Amino acid sequence: MEQYSNRFDPACPATHSFALLLNVWQRQYGRHTLPWQGTQDPYLIWVSEIMLQQTQVRTVIPYYQRFLSTFPTVETLAQSSLDQVLSHWSGLGYYARARHLHRAAQLISANGGFPRTVADLCTLPGIGRSTAGAIAAFAYGDRAAILDGNVKRILCRVFALTSPAEEELWQVADALLPDSENIATYTQGLMDLGTLRCLRNRPLCSDCPLAGICQAHQTETIAQYPSRPKRPQRQVRHSRLLLIDNAQGQWLMQRKPPTGIWAGLWSFPEETLSPDLPSSHSLGLDGEPHTMLSPIRHLLTHVEWHLYPIMFHSADSLEFPADPSYGWFTTESMEQLALPAPIRRLLPQLTMNDARTLQGEKMTSQGFSEIHRTMLTPCTTDGDRQR
Ligand code: SF4
Repeated sequence: MEQYSNRFDPACPATHSFALLLNVWQRQYGRHTLPWQGTQDPYLIWVSEIMLQQTQVRTVIPYYQRFLSTFPTVETLAQSSLDQVLSHWSGLGYYARARHLHRAAQLISANGGFPRTVADLCTLPGIGRSTAGAIAAFAYGDRAAILDGNVKRILCRVFALTSPAEEELWQVADALLPDSENIATYTQGLMDLGTLRCLRNRPLCSDCPLAGICQAHQTETIAQYPSRPKRPQRQVRHSRLLLIDNAQGQWLMQRKPPTGIWAGLWSFPEETLSPDLPSSHSLGLDGEPHTMLSPIRHLLTHVEWHLYPIMFHSADSLEFPADPSYGWFTTESMEQLALPAPIRRLLPQLTMNDARTLQGEKMTSQGFSEIHRTMLTPCTTDGDRQR
């Protein structure tokens, strides 16, 4: 059963000094030169807020700059193809953000401009209450609260809130808001404090402007806040990636369906591996694979995905179903496609088109059953970055 803390007192001194302390600190020690600062253009702010969801600032900066050099206005974004947008997002992960951004740009363009209120911003795909609050605060100077993971952590620690309900936290966030003149500094201050001082592990309390009012710090109970719900275990999945080239030096790619992992992106054809499934390959390939590249371990929120890239030469006569989701691409043309990061990292190995020179394992007498068995043993190679 959910436990409510009921410890937040809107009349307590900490409530009154919270914003003041934070703003003084932000002006002196906060960040002021990020590429998305110094503007009140809601489009520029919106793009940054979406990119920063689940992603660190230093990762976002080059993506943000490239994205805006291609899509400088909401109209250019609306008029671009989803493929172009996904291609610019390639490697940033959480691709639903890019699809929502594109769709929302079309809606904004069709409506003749950006929504002006938090409630209206929330009607756009991919914009939740916190993102809407950030856009409204930075672009319009509205007294609107934000409540991302960092802010929740700060509020729980300062006010010693154990397992607060989401709505309770929103009430705290609303109660702390300063006047509209100071709202942009305050909102940036919360973001900066969560990134620079009130870290998830080992917060830098001795340098924190809120140390004097922070209940968790004063009672030395920081580790208790926020209480962490138990994370569900990741489902483990094994798949074989089929890297098939033809006599023209092209590779077979397949666009992923519009929903699911890597939705709408291009990847190599894949097969799910299971001890219960037969080990023969699909696609009507005639012959044995010639090379196996290093396995990839890709961690998603709910899935630990092991991918085993294996290489085939297709027979000249090989014909694939007239399925528009398939296509043959040279490695140069693949560079322009919207590819998930682990797939993009395979490209340099494809350019060494002579399989005998690849660093993968040359397959000789191993039959498919042996390969199948090997693939389903635990994998130790980490081919993916974790944030
Ligand atoms: S004093 Fe420490 S725990 Fe409290 S808000 Fe500051 S950094 Fe976070």
